[in-house]
Amino acid sequence: MTAAQDWTAGVPALLVDECLACGRRTGFRQQHCAHCGSESLKTVPAQGTGRVWSITVVHRGPTKEATRDGPYGIALVDLAEGVRVMTRADAALTIGMPVRIDLRVVDGTCLPYASAADQPARA
Ligand SMILES: [Zn+2]
Repeated sequence: MTAAQDWTAGVPALLVDECLACGRRTGFRQQHCAHCGSESLKTVPAQGTGRVWSITVVHRGPTKEATRDGPYGIALVDLAEGVRVMTRADAALTIGMPVRIDLRVVDGTCLPYASAADQPARA
């Protein structure tokens, strides 16, 4: 059996771990449940919806390419599954806004990207 792969391995999937003991969700690739400590976890796909918990706008990126793409947002999003994730984001998002996360290739790297939930999905 191979381990589930997510966007960090170039696979367009947003995953979370689900605890088989208490049923709650925790971040992907955890060693144990953050809620009950159980080591019995299974990986499940996330819906890709949530709300912005925090956002900052990057005007000067860490690379020339990132600066060219700016300004862009870096957001912490609380997923519907109850897991907080960091993602690239539309710079116009605000705290509390409902968002949808899709996966986009940015400079050859697959990244999660949050957009306003009422915006049409980007192909
Ligand atoms: Zn648990």
